[in-house]
This record gives sequence, structure tokens and C-alpha cells, in this order.
Amino acid sequence: MMRAVLLGPPGAGKGTQAARLAEGFQVPAISTGDIFRANVGQGTELGLEAKEYMDAGLLVPDSVTNAMVRDRLMQDDAGEGFLLDGYPRTVDQARELDAMLVEMGVSLDVVLEITADVDEVTSRLLKRAAIEGRSDDTEPVIRQRLEVYAESTAPLTSFYRDRGVLVQVDGIGEIDEVTSRLVEAVKSHSS
Ligand code: AMP
Repeated sequence: MMRAVLLGPPGAGKGTQAARLAEGFQVPAISTGDIFRANVGQGTELGLEAKEYMDAGLLVPDSVTNAMVRDRLMQDDAGEGFLLDGYPRTVDQARELDAMLVEMGVSLDVVLEITADVDEVTSRLLKRAAIEGRSDDTEPVIRQRLEVYAESTAPLTSFYRDRGVLVQVDGIGEIDEVTSRLVEAVKSHSS
């Protein structure tokens, strides 16, 4: 059981690692990017609203994103724990998450940050583009997403470090190795 957030730049391997950790710790992995992509695929109103921002490498507005996460966290399966992947992405979202957790009467056990340098993540994203064909994995959009990360999301490192819940994990290496590092980090912080 755990309540955790996974941070890290685009291309650091968050999605892959989130799926593994969620299975190992028996909690739902909640990826805002996946929820947005599913909505785009289904042509829902939420999807239509999100798509223009996603395709430009920009953040979907907080009003949309926060409401979506709130709904998801209030579902039964998140009651015993969850792993958030891709949320929060700004300090404002982190404060909003705080408010949701207070309402739920719970708190975060750990915030895991997967670290990887810009050159490494850029080359991984370009490889992924060739395999998955995600519409936001083109070079100019990748550059934009990395800028948004540096400007809006990177401040969350110190935000969560100040609270004593941050663990940084080196994201370079074999997928299994990185998973082991993350599992150790969770074990040393879970309640
Ligand atoms: P991801 O799959 O996490 O890389 O997310 C893909 C895209 O979805 C991002 O580039 C944003 O446009 C949007 N997105 C995902 N999570 C968030 C969030 N927490 N806040 C705003 N936009 C988000």
C-alpha cells in the first residue's frame, strides 16, 4: 500500500515505471497524460479541450486537470492507495492535491523523482516517436515540453524536498535496475 507521486522529465520512464510499481504495490497508477489521451481517442469534450495544449507541448489548464484528478482520486480503488504519474506538474497543482488529500484524510508517503539528463530524455523521446507515433513526440514539441518541465515542474523538487518526502532516483540504466531503485525508495518511506 502506498500513496505516491512520480516526478521526472518527459522521457525519464515514468509511464513504464509507474505500471511496474503499481502492480508491485497493488495500487492504481493514475496517469493524467493517459487519461487525456484516452479522452482524445474517444473524442470526448475533455479530450477536445486537452488536445490543442497537448499537441503544442503546453500544460492543459488547471481548471480542467484538477477537476479530472479529483474525480479519479475519489473513486473507490484509490481509497487504499495510488501512484500519481504526471500530476502534479506545477506548484499550484501540488497545493490543489494537498487540498484533495486533506479532504480524503490521507497524506503522501513518498514523492519519487526519476532523474535523467536532457540529452538522454530527448533521444529516448525521439525513439519513442518512431515506435508509438505519439503526436507530441516531434522535436519542436519535445523541446517545448522540456522547457515547460524546467520552468513549471522542476520547482516541485524543492517543494517536496522541504517536506521531507522527496526521494531522487537515477533513471539511467536498465529498466529493471531503475525499478529496483524505486522499490527500495518506496520501502524506506512507506507507512
Ligand atoms: P504525459 O503523458 O505525462 O507526458 O502528458 C502528455 C501531455 O498531457 C502533457 O504534455 C500535457 O499537455 C498534458 N498533461 C498531462 N498531465 C498534465 C498535468 N498534470 N497538467 C497539465 N497538463 C498535463
